[in-house]
Amino acid sequence: MRGTSTAYRREPSPRPITQSGSHYPRKADLRGANVKQRDYDVVIAGARCAGATLACFLAREGARVLLLDKDAMPSEHVLSTHWIAPRGMDVLDEVGVGEAVRSVTPATRIIRGNMEGKLIDLEFADDLSMYCPRRKRLDDLLQNAAVAAGARLRDRTRVTSLVRENGRVCGLRAFRGDREQTFTAGLVIGADGRHSTVARLVEAEEYLGYDAPRASYWAYWDSPGCWKSDPAYRFDAYFGFVADDMRIVFQTDHDQLLIGCSPPIERAESWRADPRGALRAAMASDPLIAGLIRGAEPVGKVRGTVKERYFFRRAAGSGWALVGDAGHHKEVALGDGMTEALLQARSLAGAIGEGNDQALARWWRARDVAAVPLHFLGRMAGGRDGPTELMSVVFSRMSRRPDLMERMVAVMERRLSPFELLPLSSVLGWTVAAGLRGRWAVFKEIIEAGRQGLALSREMRARTRLLCESGTAWEVRQDHRAGWRSRSWKSAA
Ligand SMILES: Cc1cc2nc3c(=O)[nH]c(=O)nc-3n(C[C@H](O)[C@H](O)[C@H](O)COP(=O)(O)OP(=O)(O)OC[C@H]3O[C@@H](n4cnc5c(N)ncnc54)[C@H](O)[C@@H]3O)c2cc1C
Repeated sequence: MRGTSTAYRREPSPRPITQSGSHYPRKADLRGANVKQRDYDVVIAGARCAGATLACFLAREGARVLLLDKDAMPSEHVLSTHWIAPRGMDVLDEVGVGEAVRSVTPATRIIRGNMEGKLIDLEFADDLSMYCPRRKRLDDLLQNAAVAAGARLRDRTRVTSLVRENGRVCGLRAFRGDREQTFTAGLVIGADGRHSTVARLVEAEEYLGYDAPRASYWAYWDSPGCWKSDPAYRFDAYFGFVADDMRIVFQTDHDQLLIGCSPPIERAESWRADPRGALRAAMASDPLIAGLIRGAEPVGKVRGTVKERYFFRRAAGSGWALVGDAGHHKEVALGDGMTEALLQARSLAGAIGEGNDQALARWWRARDVAAVPLHFLGRMAGGRDGPTELMSVVFSRMSRRPDLMERMVAVMERRLSPFELLPLSSVLGWTVAAGLRGRWAVFKEIIEAGRQGLALSREMRARTRLLCESGTAWEVRQDHRAGWRSRSWKSAA
C-alpha cells in the first residue's frame, strides 16, 4: 500500500446492500430486514486506465470502492505505448488529471502518415490535441484521483478467486505476499487487462477473436537536435507503412521519442534473439526515422510483444462486469485501447449508478455497438498483407483531397465512424481507374474489402438488435457519448 492522504488510509465502514442484488441500498432496504453486510459497494481488480478511472467516478458518487492491483504502484506498464485520442483526453479532464498530463507531455497536433513514400499531414485543432504520457505517470495520476475521491487502493495484491452466493459473484479473494484476504462487495469489476483473471473466473465467453498477425517492438530515444528544428521534422507524430512494416514515432514526456515497429509475426521470430539490433536495422531503413536515431542509442530496454490476441468478451453477469482490455482488446496499431478503456470506465460508472444487473447488461451491449467498427477497422489496417494496393490508392487520393483529410481527422476524434470515411462511389471509381492502369490487385482487394464491409454490417445489425432487446433510452444516450450512434448503422444496414 502507498500514499499518505487521509482518504487513502481511511478504512471503510461496512455498508449494507440488498439481497435482491441492487449495488446500492435504497432507503427502503435500510429500513427492512432484507439487508446484508458487505465490505464494499464495488471491488475493482486492476488499477490503471480502466480500473482507477472507474474507481474515481464511483467514489465521487459516494460508493465504497476498493481498488486492487498486483503490481507495485506507481509503475510503468511495460507492454503499452501511450497514444491518447481527444475523446480520451475529455475523460481525463473529467477525472481532473488532463491539465497535469498536458503540463508534462507535448501536444500532438500534426500527424505525418507515410504509405510507401507518399506523405500526408493530418492536422488537429489546438483543443483536440493528442498526448502520449508515460504510463507510470498517467496511471499514477489516475490512482491519486481515485484515492482523493475516497477509493481505497491496495497495490501488490493479486486477485486469485471469487466469492459466490447462490450463483451470484459477491466478492473476491486476493493475496498480498502470502497473506490471503477476502473482500465482499455488491459488485466485482475485472479491470485487470487482456489476460484478466476475473474474466477467466467468471468464464466470460469470447467472440470476434483473432490472433494478431503482427508483433510490436519499441524503445525510447532522447529527442535529437533535428527534431522540430529541421524542416523535415515539422510534425508531432509519425505513422509509416514501409515495405511490410508499420513504424511509429510519438513524442512523449522526459523530452523523449518513442520509436517503434510492427513487423509481421513470422519475421518477428528472428527479432527475439536481438531485438535491439533488429529494431535499429528496421528503423535505419526508413530515411525519416534514420535521421532521428543516427549515432544514438535507445534509453533503456527495447520492449516488445509477439503474441497478442484481439477479442470481445461478455462484459457483464450476475454481480460482475469487465471493463477496458479485460472485456475488449483491439489491434494495438489503432492506438485506441486506453481511450476505449477511459470511455468505458465513464459509461460503466453511469450503469453501475443505476443499481441493477440489467443496466450492466445494457452497458455491455452498448459497448459492443460503439466498439465493433474500430475492431473491424483494426483487423483490416493491421492485417498481415498491408499495405495493400487498395490502401495505397486510397491514401494517394486522400493526400490530394483536404475534405477527406478532414474526415480522417473526424474519425480519429471519434466524431465519425471509420466506415463512413469514404463515399463508396469514390472508392469504386478510384479502384477502376487504378485497375485500368494495370494495378490489377485492386480488383481482388476491393472484393475482400466489400466482404469485410458486409460482415461488419451483419455484425452491427446483430449487436444493435441485442442492444435494443436489452432496453432503449439509456443505451442510446451512452452510445452517443461513445462517439457514433447505432442508429446510423441501423439505417446503413
Ligand atoms: C504493444 C501495445 C501497444 C499499445 N499502445 C497503445 C497506445 O499507443 N494507445 C492506446 O490507447 N492503447 C495502447 N495499447 C492498449 C492499452 O495498453 C490498453 O488498451 C490499456 O492499457 C487498457 O487499460 P486497462 O486498464 O484495461 O488494462 P491494463 O492497463 O492492462 O491494466 C490492468 C491492470 O490489472 C492488473 N492485474 C492483472 N491481473 C491482476 C490480478 N489478478 N489481480 C490484481 N491486479 C491484476 C495489472 O497489474 C494491471 O496493472 C497498447 C497495447 C499494446 C499491447
